[in-house]
Amino acid sequence: MPKKIGREEKKIIDKILKIIRGNRTFFISSHMRPDGDSIGAQLALSSFLKRLGKDVYIANRDPVPAVYRFLPDSSDIHVVEKVERNFDVAFILDCGDLQRIGDIIDLKNRVKTIINMDHHLGCELFGDYNYVQPQASSVAEELYDLFKQSHREITKEEVLALYVGILTDTGRFQEANTTPRCHEIVAELIKEGISPQVVSQRIYESRSGPGLRLLSSTLGTLEITAGGKIAHLTITQEMYKETGAGEEETEGFVNFARDVKGVEAGVLFRETNVGDQFRVSFRSKGRIDVSKIARLFGGGGHRNAAGCTMRGTVEEVKRRILKAVSQEVNNTGTAKERHSKRC
Ligand code: 5GP
Ligand code: MN
Repeated sequence: MPKKIGREEKKIIDKILKIIRGNRTFFISSHMRPDGDSIGAQLALSSFLKRLGKDVYIANRDPVPAVYRFLPDSSDIHVVEKVERNFDVAFILDCGDLQRIGDIIDLKNRVKTIINMDHHLGCELFGDYNYVQPQASSVAEELYDLFKQSHREITKEEVLALYVGILTDTGRFQEANTTPRCHEIVAELIKEGISPQVVSQRIYESRSGPGLRLLSSTLGTLEITAGGKIAHLTITQEMYKETGAGEEETEGFVNFARDVKGVEAGVLFRETNVGDQFRVSFRSKGRIDVSKIARLFGGGGHRNAAGCTMRGTVEEVKRRILKAVSQEVNNTGTAKERHSKRC
């Protein structure tokens, strides 16, 4: 059994369960360009609420990535520009700040109670209730605790959705947020019938031909700078056109930059189809805090995985970002230097 949760967490879960009991219409949303945790958490929560007889509407700004469409009821996630309905309660999942949902609803006027469920350090407390646990691996892990505390059975579909959230947000149990507790929860989910092999095949061994060709051309852009401490990759609109792959197939590409031996921070620059706008993804090893860098440019994230959007020419964007990354890397010192300081 996973270790018991703390008193504060128990209290906030109790409040949320009370709000669920006392209301009828629920809106669920999560961040733009959804990932496995945002999709898994939304579907698990929606299923749970529906079993309690609630009226649930899920809407996101961007579509469910193809690899997550095997999740039951993923087609219930509406892709909208604006939601023109009123709700008793809104659950906003996995968003460090409200801008992350992409302005799809006027929460102030359309919703009576906002519940913020998140696990980002420094998450803005924008909800009427904030269930924010930076030590949780994922929102899926927080939901597991909420479901358990409700003393209701968790369905097979919910188990799968929670597993996908934890699996993907921990980077297949490799990132720093992989804790004994999340392994204990995953052990329970596997006992409920999850096949890690099947899920892994659905998510990670499902690249399309065009997606793999795009990976190949992206790897061709690899540059290593700052004396081997920073590696970066670039994807242009031209490369999407040449290969026929879409942005959602670039999931995980940034990890290849970080995979280089000795590299402390990996960066992926993706040109978007909006004018001079670039998406920048950061991944780091150890103590290098890339969320600090992303925040400098209006983005955010976690210590070892973060992102932001930036405008400018490709040269400008790269120059500004790489300057900030090298400052952070130099300020933090190399793993070797840190090790020798400790010894
Ligand atoms: P990715 O590189 O996969 O797009 O994002 C990695 C992590 O950084 C995400 O899980 C999310 O926590 C965070 N992130 C990415 N882009 C943004 C952004 O534009 N704003 C904020 N606040 N966080 C972001
Ligand atoms: Mn998450």
